[in-house]
Amino acid sequence: MNSQRLHQMRAVVTGAATGIGEAIARVFAQNGATVLAVDLPGSGIEQKYNGITGIHGFVCDVSTDEAPDQLIALVDEHLSGLDILVNNAGISRMEFVENSTDELWDDIMNNNLRPVFRLSKAAISLLKKSPAGRIINLGSVFSVFGSPGLSAYSASKHAIAGLTKSLSAEIGRYGITANYIQPGAIMTDMTRESFRAHPDVRDYWINKAAVRRLGEPLDIAKVALFLASDDSAFISGTGIIVDGGAVQTP
Ligand code: NAD
Repeated sequence: MNSQRLHQMRAVVTGAATGIGEAIARVFAQNGATVLAVDLPGSGIEQKYNGITGIHGFVCDVSTDEAPDQLIALVDEHLSGLDILVNNAGISRMEFVENSTDELWDDIMNNNLRPVFRLSKAAISLLKKSPAGRIINLGSVFSVFGSPGLSAYSASKHAIAGLTKSLSAEIGRYGITANYIQPGAIMTDMTRESFRAHPDVRDYWINKAAVRRLGEPLDIAKVALFLASDDSAFISGTGIIVDGGAVQTP
């Protein structure tokens, strides 16, 4: 994965202490970017990247009111500008609508959707100064499908699709693209316990995938690298499904 495809580019990756966000931060840095990696208090983000070339780890809870100002201050101090914003942080909670609560709904929206709007808004003035600004959001295959128990999660991910499409139409004139990645079943902390407790669900996704395996965070990071690089210069407002072919058949 080592090249200089992101030579001298400056990136923010949210939710970067583990899983897909960590893989994206590492792949970006290996490809020449300087990365500001943020995650929740207690996530170990600062220690994780201590001494790692090209990645600075900081605590920032993107669901808080002050997160955009906090992030812009960190960017000013450590990156002096911004080329790539990756809105990756997210959570998942399962409950049927009938048994769900306002609290669950708000929790999902406040972590998965509201920060994508607020951080993108805050980043635009910086991205306008970049020769090739990029916003990369993490949607899901549940940006186009629903599933029992995932109403709030899939609503948040459908909304990311709508937000990204509209945003791309607004900022394209400044040379900024906005796209979203739609992972299928990827083995991370978000899914590990559920796949362990429900091997039938894990096997369902393995067998449903044309390539007969679960995804790894690196599978997603490679697509993020493509979207961040000049190779994707004429792609905007698009979601890319990265699921090993799982949702292409009934
Ligand atoms: P993960 O749970 O392994 O990692 C998510 C990271 O985001 C964690 O480090 C967590 O601490 C951080 N985070 C959560 N809320 C935050 C907040 N408010 N502020 C800062 N950081 C926060 O999950 P993952 O599988 O790596 O998921 C990354 C993204 O990919 C999410 O948006 C998720 O919805 C999406 N996704 C994952 C899968 C999958 O199968 N794993 C599939 C489709 C989409």
